[in-house]
Amino acid sequence: MSIQWFPGHMAKAKREAKEKMKLIDVVIELLDARIPLSSRNPVIDEITGGKPRIIILNKADLADPEITKAWKAYFESEGHHVLEADAQKGKGVQGIGPAVREEAAGMIEKMKRKGMNPRAIRALILGIPNVGKSTLINRLASKKIARIGDRPGVTKSQQWIKVGKEMELLDTPGILWPKFDDEAVGYRLALTGAIKEELFDFQDSSAFLLKELKKSYPELLKSRYSLEELPDDLLALFDEIGRRRGCLISGGNIDYDRTAELIFRDFRAGKFGRVSLEQPAD
Ligand code: GDP
Repeated sequence: MSIQWFPGHMAKAKREAKEKMKLIDVVIELLDARIPLSSRNPVIDEITGGKPRIIILNKADLADPEITKAWKAYFESEGHHVLEADAQKGKGVQGIGPAVREEAAGMIEKMKRKGMNPRAIRALILGIPNVGKSTLINRLASKKIARIGDRPGVTKSQQWIKVGKEMELLDTPGILWPKFDDEAVGYRLALTGAIKEELFDFQDSSAFLLKELKKSYPELLKSRYSLEELPDDLLALFDEIGRRRGCLISGGNIDYDRTAELIFRDFRAGKFGRVSLEQPAD
């Protein structure tokens, strides 16, 4: 699912997320491991209002493992609890329960001190479209899915999903808008599937991708298109790929639209291997 974000949509998303915030103890912020900054909501701190938060670098299976490690250290240095995950296969998901419990330990301690019986910790998943929120919710719910709705303040369409003994998860995630800082952020979001592909020109996004791959992953690029050398010139690189893939128009000229779309789809399908499009060092 991709949403086109207008100011009205953003205001509504913010209002809804803040409303949900009243019900929960711990926020699970989902980021795309390939673009952790570009996939981060720009006002997440304001929305979560100081609630304990864990960060999950999802789709880590598609990202460069070394760079994901560097991002983990980066967010940890900001004081966050950080996990890597592949929600699709369920990898890393088992660490979420303990992390949430650790973040909520203070709250549980306080309840005990007041002589109250500690209740289950309530968590909410927040993230931009397509980052894997629903996949993760389904993973966490797995076999033990037990819907326990009808709590004050929870609308009918929202239910709590029991995860293990000590955690409850709101079954509808908070959908937030991504950054729209600059063109590069836009290309990263288009390439990773966070925004509608029609919003971006394939030639522009693919040119951005080829530059990134040439700079950081030349061997993966060569291997994908069986190239021995990478031409310096981007146009020559497009030509070479187009020719090799038979993206031609009459007269043997390169069909740039088709070539660009092919490169774009190859990236979306993970055909280059594990690639990150953003590094903390940038
Ligand atoms: P949502 O919009 O945030 O709820 O995103 P979805 O859960 O619908 O996931 C969007 C797409 O990403 C789907 O095609 C999922 O199968 C895929 N996906 C989710 N998590 C992962 C992951 O960790 N790795 C990979 N490779 N794909 C994932």
